[in-house]
Amino acid sequence: MEVYVDNNATTKVDEDVLNAMLPYLKESFANPSSLYDSGKKTRKAVNAARSNVAKMLNAEEKEIIFTASATESNVTAIMSAARNSNGKKRIITSKLEHASILETMNYLETQGFDIVYLDVDDKGRISTEDFKKAINGDTFLVAMMLANNELGNIYPIKEFCQIAHENNILFHCDCTQAVGKIKVDVKELGVDTLSFSGHKIHAPKGVAVLYVKEGTPYTPLIFGHQENNRRGGTENVPYIIGLGKAAEKIVEDNFQSIEKVKELRDYFEEQIKSKLDDVHIYGDVDNRIPNTSNIAFLNANGNELAIILEASNISLSNGSACNTTEPKPSDVLVACHANLKDYFPIRVSFDSYNTKEQVDYFINKLVLNVNMLRRKNNGNSN
Ligand code: PMP
Repeated sequence: MEVYVDNNATTKVDEDVLNAMLPYLKESFANPSSLYDSGKKTRKAVNAARSNVAKMLNAEEKEIIFTASATESNVTAIMSAARNSNGKKRIITSKLEHASILETMNYLETQGFDIVYLDVDDKGRISTEDFKKAINGDTFLVAMMLANNELGNIYPIKEFCQIAHENNILFHCDCTQAVGKIKVDVKELGVDTLSFSGHKIHAPKGVAVLYVKEGTPYTPLIFGHQENNRRGGTENVPYIIGLGKAAEKIVEDNFQSIEKVKELRDYFEEQIKSKLDDVHIYGDVDNRIPNTSNIAFLNANGNELAIILEASNISLSNGSACNTTEPKPSDVLVACHANLKDYFPIRVSFDSYNTKEQVDYFINKLVLNVNMLRRKNNGNSN
């Protein structure tokens, strides 16, 4: 049996998404900027995809820009805010953001910007008081995620955004791990810019969205006439169609599938806790996206477990920043002051393609291997 439980890393392309894309890889290949009929047809299809995305986010069509990755969307939003900061220098972000945010901040620091990286507590939560204290008259942007890719934590973006706006500060929100898992409504959140990626919602890699609220100052990262002069480059028509289909399916599904995913995740955690002692679940467990479990076992290192489980065709992430032979703990876990010596986690992220049968197989293999590693480690220490 094969068990893929690394859906926060990427997801399988949905069959309906693929079928929607295929005609645009074959016969309907015209450039949407062309004036002849086939070009008009692809233009219409791109705009229908835009409409589906706008509907999913409760946004206006003209507020949706297609990009190539959430990384590009994040960098574009931050660089745009920095270029329109009117001399202001401070940006507030957190230590738990995705590398695309943190590395843009590192660059901006070299350009004289003043970046505040908010600390988190041991559950990865950000304190509202710390956030308020970080704001000064020089602050022009906050960049924070709605849901964290490793812990699954959900952040109070609506509240933070209100505070930012009271201080005339723009708010960029990385919603890459939130879309499809929890409601993402731009009007409710109130954010100025927002990003997410196709490949986390069963569309292909290489297509994503940047939402820019109407009236927000905006300078492109990639200049050109496409996307209403906001993102140059001939539109990636088939992938945009795929993303549109994925968005349409999320709207149709209305969070029914994710309920089942949550049941599987909760079942997994309950079973593991009943079969093993000394289990620790990282993150804000009562306030997480429904598919994620960052789980650790005393005396059974997550790096070793991930490698052993691979031999049983189980694909998941460990708590490392990269998969090298010398694994370095992820910045997120370090920021949470995780006790990584004793509890080095694995990250499990389910989705609607997982079955109960797969989860039972996974639980069985996990329990066996945690016990095996514990015996080995106890043997070594004697
Ligand atoms: N933000 C978050 C929270 C993510 O999890 C990811 C993907 N791991 C990204 C941004 C980047 O997305 P992409 O792969 O489309 O660049």
